[in-house]
Amino acid sequence: MNNRPLKCLFVSTEVVPYAKTGGLADVIGALPKKLRERGIDARVVMPYYQRIKGKFFEHDEHFVTSYDVYLGWRVQGVGLYFDDSIVPTYFLKNDTYFSRDELYGYQDDYERFAFFCKGVLEMLRHIDFMPDIIQCNDWQTGPLCLLLKDMYSRDMFFSKIKTIYTIHNLKYQGLFGREALDVLELSNEYMSPERIEYHGAVSYMKAGLIYSDKITTVSPTYAEEIKTYEYGCGLDRLLGEKLYYKIEGILNGIDYNIYNPQTDPHIYTNYNIDTLEMKKENKFAFQRAYGLEEKDCMMIGVVSRITDQKGFDLMKQQVYEAWVMDKIMELDVQFVILGTGEKEYEDMFRYFANKYKKRVCAFLTFNEPLAQKIYASSDIFLMPSLFEPCGLGQLIAMRYGTVPIVRKTGGLKDTVIHYNQESKEGTGFEFEDCSGYWMYKKIEEAYNYYNTEGQEAFRQMQYNGMKKGFSWDDAARKYEKVYRALVR
Ligand code: ADP
Repeated sequence: MNNRPLKCLFVSTEVVPYAKTGGLADVIGALPKKLRERGIDARVVMPYYQRIKGKFFEHDEHFVTSYDVYLGWRVQGVGLYFDDSIVPTYFLKNDTYFSRDELYGYQDDYERFAFFCKGVLEMLRHIDFMPDIIQCNDWQTGPLCLLLKDMYSRDMFFSKIKTIYTIHNLKYQGLFGREALDVLELSNEYMSPERIEYHGAVSYMKAGLIYSDKITTVSPTYAEEIKTYEYGCGLDRLLGEKLYYKIEGILNGIDYNIYNPQTDPHIYTNYNIDTLEMKKENKFAFQRAYGLEEKDCMMIGVVSRITDQKGFDLMKQQVYEAWVMDKIMELDVQFVILGTGEKEYEDMFRYFANKYKKRVCAFLTFNEPLAQKIYASSDIFLMPSLFEPCGLGQLIAMRYGTVPIVRKTGGLKDTVIHYNQESKEGTGFEFEDCSGYWMYKKIEEAYNYYNTEGQEAFRQMQYNGMKKGFSWDDAARKYEKVYRALVR
């Protein structure tokens, strides 16, 4: 195998610490760092959002250059910025597109991210960095694979670059009207099911899947699941029958420097595997800070986007003629949730917080320091997802000695091992059926372990989870293998 130094550009619309809405940001904040440790010149490019300005680097000193991007009949300017205080990262600035409160969810998202994709390719002519690999992430970056393969690669300058398209969540596909063809300067011929048409819409996800040289996704189980009707989000036949040969699942890790209960500045009391008894201090301090009753009962934590994907419908199913959530609250437990998302679920948690005062807390906001406090303070971390490409919450929880209860799907299946009392192996609890009954049964099982005299088995699960190695080393090695096979 050729061992020459590789160059890789990660294209992402969110990156820790600059902008984050979910796990994608964690991945791009961590993986390039690990690859650099392996001698790969990994760099990152992302949009310059309003929230970045003045927060991470001196705006003016980090200006590199400016250039124009053509989107059909429109011309838009890019101000290019660069910061290498963590990992060499480029920022594409255009206030029309990116000076907004949120990252996504606007009517012109098709144009914003077409601009981003083209802007990234044009950027390469202006910087002294020609990557061997461009790694695109999720639908926002799908068009880049198409533009490179069908247009830019005719230019010798771009012809050798290979693309990887990484699926972090197949459900969000970037489906738009035909106006997307205009901004991408694509003819109507692209509107066919073999290309990027999806039931009459332009699919940015398909542009990434079909035109990339390799597809990766974030766990081995999810790589198989997306080829099935149940999890394929309408793309199962494309993935299972046509593109299967180029799909690979590589499990995400977490950044062990950021997620470290021994050094985490956001939690109340630091601890490690040898001082695990100190973890409880976090629970008591949390109870005091947020008006929960101060006592040593089992605290169930959730940190999550609050969408149907995450399985919150199970909370309001019926079990023993009561709502599952009411049934859970019949146990001597406390319940803390942090998340934002769909109003229906937010309202449900507001209702429960009101109904069970001093026992349920619902923080319906995005707050990273608070998330860390919940990981450290909870005894149980609940993740009943309907599907889960990888899931980082359960990995962070285990790192903090918090025992996960998860539905057995995708990356949750690959990372959580059901506890076996005989062998004392396992890190948490899994249930397979998408049913509130089984979720409740697993919470009850955990509750019984938690309250068993001596709590030995529960302690064992915590140790087992903390000892697991979910750092990025393994994944970085696997990605390097993929890169080398592509540039051979
Ligand atoms: P997804 O990418 O589907 O949102 P993951 O489990 O892969 O789910 O990653 C979610 C990441 O976002 C985790 O790092 C989690 O701690 C964080 N997170 C989710 N919701 C919030 C929130 N409301 N406040 C702070 N962090 C959050």
